[in-house]
Amino acid sequence: MTTHVWDYLPEFERERDDILDAVDTVFRSGQLILGASVRGFEQEFAAYHGIPHCVALDNGTNAVKLALQSLGIGPGDEVITVANTAAPTVVAIDGTGATPVFVDVRPDDFLMDTTQLADAITPRTKAIVPVHLYGQCVDMAPLRALAAEHGLLVVEDCAQSHGARQHGALAGSMGDAAAFSFYPTKVLGAYGDGGAVLTGSAEADRNLRRLRYYGMENGYYVVRVPGHNSRLDEVQAEILRRKLRRMDEYIAGRQRVARRYAEALTDLTAPGELELPTVTPGNEHVHYLYVVRHPERERILERLREQDIVLNVSYRWPVHLMSGFAHLGYAKGSLPVTERLAGEIFSLPMYPSLPTGLQDKVISALRSVCAKMR
Ligand SMILES: *Cc1c(COP(=O)(O)O)cnc(C)c1O
Repeated sequence: MTTHVWDYLPEFERERDDILDAVDTVFRSGQLILGASVRGFEQEFAAYHGIPHCVALDNGTNAVKLALQSLGIGPGDEVITVANTAAPTVVAIDGTGATPVFVDVRPDDFLMDTTQLADAITPRTKAIVPVHLYGQCVDMAPLRALAAEHGLLVVEDCAQSHGARQHGALAGSMGDAAAFSFYPTKVLGAYGDGGAVLTGSAEADRNLRRLRYYGMENGYYVVRVPGHNSRLDEVQAEILRRKLRRMDEYIAGRQRVARRYAEALTDLTAPGELELPTVTPGNEHVHYLYVVRHPERERILERLREQDIVLNVSYRWPVHLMSGFAHLGYAKGSLPVTERLAGEIFSLPMYPSLPTGLQDKVISALRSVCAKMR
């Protein structure tokens, strides 16, 4: 049987009664759209973070997009982010009509290099979108200081960092708004698509509720601008409420899997050979992905594939070089760290219910492949 980086079935088998009860609860509630489960999830997700407002949406891409729109960002504005991210971050920025602008990432934690922000700011810059990639937070203190100095908005992309902390503060509590995805693989995952925005702003909250509902307020009347249909489904909301109660356990499970990898692989690590993920001081890492690095990545992936172990690369193509973003005008070589990483990183299987036997199989295969390359 082929081993993949993610599989929801072990968790479903364990939680089946609760998940099916959530479905039954919604079907029997008499309200299938924007009912008690969406309202309940919004309240509980906001309370978990200690943030006043949560608006549940249909996916994480629209969470980034509508968060920006709810804060007034659109055509003519520039939004600074990174190219080492899931393409949806940039699709969402582009979708508002604003122009995405990239800074490079750091070679140690692969996250936004905040020392490059000052040079990227122009008179048109309106916001920064830090992406808390792989499960730990971008260095927020210098980012926030710069944003305050230049009057910029901060919209955190938390799609990979539910429950991550920096100096005690939760991802999603450190900006003007924060976007989450509940895509099934995520730290808090639905059984389908889902997303949400957290914000401390009552005005952004009202804008978001209108934007996800065609732009309508007070019945069937579109005010200001046409919006979208971007509601979280009631069934997914009820499943997410159940799973939110177990989110801290999921995170502990991921951290256990990460510790096991570290213990089993550390002796193989060396600069220019295998490198394991680092946790930046002050960060609590939730290990959405376990991303390792090796200059001989392609050979390693090929050898593992021969043993029926199929791994992912997050991400193989830096966003700024994708042909769909050619209109942004970035050339090869413009983000050297991002581009180098894209050729060397790959992800080991990571999910809280990863069976120990599967993890051991991956560890021993990787050990023998890496040892042969020394
Ligand atoms: C998954 C993800 C998204 C998009 O979320 P969807 O729910 O799939 O639309 C956005 N940003 C990042 C960093 C992601 O990992």
